[in-house]
Amino acid sequence: MDGFGSAVVWMNGQILSGAQATVPVWDRGFLFGESVYETFRTYEGIPWLFVEHYERLVRSADQLSIRVPYSMAELWEACLRLAEVYRPQEAYLRIIVTGGLSDVVLEPPHERKPNVVILGKVFQAFPALWYETGAPVVIARVRRNPAFALDPRIKSSNLLNNILAYRDAVRAGAAEAIMLNYEGWVAEGASSNVFIVNARGVLQTPSLDVGLLEGVTRRWVLQICRQRAIPVEEARFALEDLRQAREVFVTSSLKGILPVTSIDGQPVGNGTVGPVTRQLMEWYDEAVRAYVERVRSDGVPLPYC
Ligand code: PLP
Repeated sequence: MDGFGSAVVWMNGQILSGAQATVPVWDRGFLFGESVYETFRTYEGIPWLFVEHYERLVRSADQLSIRVPYSMAELWEACLRLAEVYRPQEAYLRIIVTGGLSDVVLEPPHERKPNVVILGKVFQAFPALWYETGAPVVIARVRRNPAFALDPRIKSSNLLNNILAYRDAVRAGAAEAIMLNYEGWVAEGASSNVFIVNARGVLQTPSLDVGLLEGVTRRWVLQICRQRAIPVEEARFALEDLRQAREVFVTSSLKGILPVTSIDGQPVGNGTVGPVTRQLMEWYDEAVRAYVERVRSDGVPLPYC
């Protein structure tokens, strides 16, 4: 990666240059892919939906018997410090908590000492055109790993399943690769959740039992729909339902709400961004503005959903 030496990294309480920040080869994150992470961005220098990300980080770590050794307040301060470095630009932030040092054996050591790293870089927005006219996606050939093998609700840094799927998007010049689960139900994007307005006009997103990451942005969408009395279902739906949907969009903390207007080169609905998607994008922008104002005046991260 170009210029990683000039990037800034928070590591175990210290701010380091990207070149100085290194993790020992004996770390279980390197040895076994045993680490968890959260990725989010800032708006006006404020990390978006920080409480929800911190809580999911703790839940993911807990699944691997790792205790996050920093409080929410400590990591919040660390993220603000990193974000400040990139002002007036917005920051991309990634918190990583590793399994810590270990012998090369599957069993973790009795006393774990996780390494906690926050990578910061300038946030690179996705192409504005994708938000105006909609983005292309493809259906990945790789299936999402089932929860009974490796639960996608653990936000693990071992992203091989997602990386293999995303190759199909890269090959096609698409924004995202949508993954089905092992039974053929639509699960999620390689790094996003999926919503459709189905052929009957009902807003739906795959239910958690399909096997997917419970996205913070997905939760935000479900909550705003419930607050504004927009019917929304968490359901199982098939590839055919996705292809025949009137509207499709994907969500993530970095993408926000990204409209999808083609799947495997075929238009979604009439090929333009639909009214439900547009409305949610508007509410999302309003919510971001309100969140930034509230956090500024209160000085602490606030739970959103
Ligand atoms: N699904 C996967 C596999 C992801 O990696 C991500 C985000 O990175 C998401 C969904 C969206 O989650 P969030 O809205 O919390 O960013």
